[in-house]
Order: sequence, then structure tokens, then C-alpha cells
Amino acid sequence: MSRNADKLRLFVECGLVAGACVTIDRAQAHYLGHVMRRGIGDPLLVFNGRDGEWRARVDALGKGGGALIVHEATRAQSRDSDLWVLFAPVKRTPIDRIAREATTLGASRLAPVLTRHTVARRINTARLRANAREAAEQCGRLSVPEVANPVSLTAAFEAWPAERRLLVADETGAGRAIADVLIALGREDPVPPSAILTGPEGGFEAGELDALGDLPFVIRVRLGPRILRAETAVLSALACWQALIGDWREEGAAAGGR
Ligand code: SAM
Repeated sequence: MSRNADKLRLFVECGLVAGACVTIDRAQAHYLGHVMRRGIGDPLLVFNGRDGEWRARVDALGKGGGALIVHEATRAQSRDSDLWVLFAPVKRTPIDRIAREATTLGASRLAPVLTRHTVARRINTARLRANAREAAEQCGRLSVPEVANPVSLTAAFEAWPAERRLLVADETGAGRAIADVLIALGREDPVPPSAILTGPEGGFEAGELDALGDLPFVIRVRLGPRILRAETAVLSALACWQALIGDWREEGAAAGGR
């Protein structure tokens, strides 16, 4: 649920058409009524990732849930960036930050990948999904990224779509500068779908980087001359992607950004 009182937005699962009655769950009703002090008849915005954004009004609020009546569309559904973010899980605070900020930076899929040096192996995927959903409500995007269940590094590439390029953030400095790689990718026609992979606090094992480097769809990239924290690396690579081939460019925004 978004905290911006002027643009209170809720993500809902059901279809959105004028006149539809949308039921909301206990947490959403509590937030609307007790946190945002909304009452019957108050307006808000709803979206479901498929039907665009709609203005709705509170129709019922109670301890067990509530109901909204959908009125008019405010924005048509737009295509979000097709960018997957694979990351080795890190501790609770930084992994929550990755879920939130990668969502606001437009990632379409968040996929935790367990590498040899991954320390935080128990991941609360439900909490990551809640972080992503709240960030999507807050930042105004019209979809919530998929948050996949954690898989091993090997399993992550078993059925990898051959056309999707994977930029592996390689802290050893062996990769090519990410900006040059993205500028070259942006010149391809059509621009291939992309993914980014970053390692854990302890970095990738040399054997992992070699095995990744042998995959035909992998490009090892350097994120500058300094060693970044894992979460900084994820978000920096994402920002580069949006700036050079994503919806931070005029044409990128027109083509399908927010
Ligand atoms: N233990 C590693 C070391 O000291 O060399 C640092 C790992 S770093 C904290 C976590 C991850 O961020 C790395 O595995 C890599 O994916 C990414 N990363 C950090 N700095 C990077 C850089 N300058 N270039 C590419 N990737 C980087």
C-alpha cells in the first residue's frame, strides 16, 4: 500500500472494469482505515498489472476486509521493462532493499540465486513479494515484478531462454565495462531481452565465473573500478540498464515505460 496520501494506490488481483466491486483483504482494509484514515466513499487508485490503473472508492471497511467500487480508468496498461534481476541473496536489510528498489527501478522479475558463497540461504519470499508489491504501489508502476523462489546457480540456467542476454557482474574486473556492453546491446535490432546477475557478499567463486563465462548468452561486465556492496551492484547495474537501453531514455519511455 502506498503511503503517498495524494495518490493512494492499492494492487489488487481481480479484473478491473467500471462498476466492478473489488474485495480487499484484512491487511489492506486495516491500512486504508487505520493507517490512512480513509472511510466509506473516499477515493483511491487501484491496479492489477493487466488492466491499467483505475480510480475507485471505498465501499466497505471492516476488521476482516473491505470492498471498493471501481469507477473510471486513469491510465492504460503500459508495457514495463523486460529486465530480469538475478541476485545472490544477502542479509535481511539489504535483500529487502533489493526487492523494493529493483521494483522502483522497473525490474520485471526478481530471482534469488544460491551461489557457493551465499550465506543467507533461508529467504522469506513472502516478505520479498510484500516489499515488491508496496514499492510498486508507491512508485506508480502498473505492475508488480514476479519474485521467484530461490534456485541454485545451475538450476537458474537449465531452461534459460537463448535470446535473453545475461550480464554477470564480475567483481574480478575481467568483464567489459557495463556501459559499453549496454550501448552495444542497444544498437541491436531488436534489442534482446536482458538479465543481470550479481553475487553475494563473499563474491562469486572463480569456478562459478568460469562456468558462467562458458554460457553463450553470458556477458561478464565490470561496474567500475571499485568493489560495490552486493545490493549497490544490483541497483547500479539496473540504473545503467534503464539509462542506456531502458525507460529512462525518451524513446524508452515512449516505447513502453511508465
Ligand atoms: N568478496 C568480493 C571481493 O571482495 O572482491 C566482493 C563481492 S561484492 C560485495 C558482491 C557482488 O557485487 C559481486 O559478486 C559482484 O556481482 C558485484 N560487484 C561488486 N563490485 C563490482 C564491480 N566493480 N564490478 C562488477 N561486479 C561487482
